[in-house]
Amino acid sequence: MPSNVAQSYPYKKESEAERAAAIASTLAAREGLADRLAAEALPYDNDAGDEAWAWRCRSVGCPGLMHTAGYARDRRGLVALCDACGTIALR
Ligand SMILES: [Zn+2]
Repeated sequence: MPSNVAQSYPYKKESEAERAAAIASTLAAREGLADRLAAEALPYDNDAGDEAWAWRCRSVGCPGLMHTAGYARDRRGLVALCDACGTIALR
């Protein structure tokens, strides 16, 4: 569907501080989510503090943003986490 394709493009860049805060508060708000994320993704390593991409969540009706949360286990992509519904998705 065209609308879904459009929404898979990066929405914005955010600072490492914004990204880390968004991920931390999302994980803190949902029991077990940190474990699920750890099972699905390798830890995000951003020692340089570079800006990271964020995407609009594709879940129907979700107003959230998906923040960079880690790497795919094969390192071929980024794993993103929605700050509103807790969806974990490959980007
Ligand atoms: Zn969402």
